[in-house]
Amino acid sequence: MARTETLARLRNLPSVDEVMRAEAASLAVDRFGRSAVVSAVRGALTEARKNGKAETAAHDADHFAAAALTRLDAEAAPRLKPIFNLTGTILHTNLGRALLAEEAVAAATKAMREYVALEFDLDGGKRGERDDHLRGLLCELTGAEDATAVNNNAAAVMLVLNTLAKGKESIVSRGELIEIGGAFRMPEIMSRAGTKLKEVGTTNRTHKKDYIAAIGPKTGLMLKVHTSNYRIQGFVAGVSPRDLAAIARAGKIPLVNDLGSGTLIDLSRFGIAHEPTVAEAVKEGADLVTFSGDKLLGGPQAGFIVGRKALIEMINRNPMKRALRLDKIRIAALEATLRLYRDPDRLAARLPTLRLLARPLPEIESLASRLVPAVSSRLGAAFSVQAKRCKSQIGSGSLPLETIESTALVIHPSGGRGEGRALAALAAAFRRLPLPVIGRIEDQSLVLDLRCLEDEKGFVENLAKLAFSETAHVRA
Ligand SMILES: *Cc1c(COP(=O)(O)O)cnc(C)c1O
Repeated sequence: MARTETLARLRNLPSVDEVMRAEAASLAVDRFGRSAVVSAVRGALTEARKNGKAETAAHDADHFAAAALTRLDAEAAPRLKPIFNLTGTILHTNLGRALLAEEAVAAATKAMREYVALEFDLDGGKRGERDDHLRGLLCELTGAEDATAVNNNAAAVMLVLNTLAKGKESIVSRGELIEIGGAFRMPEIMSRAGTKLKEVGTTNRTHKKDYIAAIGPKTGLMLKVHTSNYRIQGFVAGVSPRDLAAIARAGKIPLVNDLGSGTLIDLSRFGIAHEPTVAEAVKEGADLVTFSGDKLLGGPQAGFIVGRKALIEMINRNPMKRALRLDKIRIAALEATLRLYRDPDRLAARLPTLRLLARPLPEIESLASRLVPAVSSRLGAAFSVQAKRCKSQIGSGSLPLETIESTALVIHPSGGRGEGRALAALAAAFRRLPLPVIGRIEDQSLVLDLRCLEDEKGFVENLAKLAFSETAHVRA
């Protein structure tokens, strides 16, 4: 395009006022307010001016008003989108971990709308403590003397180390120096908490005598860490929690057990391997036990510290506690979640984490057989869709070796060449859906594990919007 022609076009751009008089602009003003629309219109005009080569017939006010509306619509969609988690990992840290029970959702919603007696003792009319709402339930469910709750389990561990071992040594077995995803590394947490790591034993074997030899005047505490996301197998030796407790007691130092996931009930009744319960850890003699709220427990993000009253009181006096505290919304959700544990028989029906974990295989299989034709006809001949057995996992470092039989839709590109590209394009198309579908790529296939798919109707409706034109040219 000649330069003079371009300049003429730019002169032809409508003014902001002209665009604001267009019909789409008044529609946009109703929805987003005048100032947002004016700035979106300015943005659209600036862009056209910058590009200098805006499409021929598109210079009128209506065009720019519509462009501004489209832009504002896109910006209004939440960044934090609900998705279909078909990864096969029930507690996926990147996808928000546990889904809350309806009871917890209702309690949190109510707490958001209303004033609540968060730190107010209704009996005496005096100031109360926010821990009061959870203490009773936590003590009842774990057998501990006292309890407190903070932002997450990483915060719980940090707070315990800082309270009991600041300027002192913390004894840990070399086999338990864990790294959990997202930069939670025990040695680094320790140094930030102001305690000195005192490693004992070796990676695969740690003995009673190693712990005993490490105890000295500088010792602040002994820490046992649940190796949540790995197992050391073969020529291994560790010290049982009971023996550790006896050694700690003899050395007059506290024993802290970081359980990580920490379940409140025995999972073997759901056909899952036995994971140490918090009550067991308390009974075995740990002075403090720390665990997460949003792993197997199935609540919102939180970290719990339960154990001896004198130690919990010290923790509550640490100024860091204030920086790590929970808000009323999560306390309400936690209280409602913990209450469900008083009726273990109905827990699997009410707590989504357990419901998904215990979901019967035949139910998932029949869901798969209903979905194969729907997905297959949507994708056409470019892909084969089959229902296949697969293995779900619990996730978030809970029972790392434990898998649960499940069924997946396994989608494989039909063509020989360009398979990888077709597969990547398909996975991207699923991620771009109004309700993005997240699966996993395995053996040149997109695997959609159906264990966590409960809204079948929503999934099928969503599927109709699958736009995979990019895969169409791969087919050609
Ligand atoms: C998961 C985990 C943590 C961290 O807990 P968050 O609730 O994610 O902060 C700490 N220790 C262990 C052993 C864990 O498994």
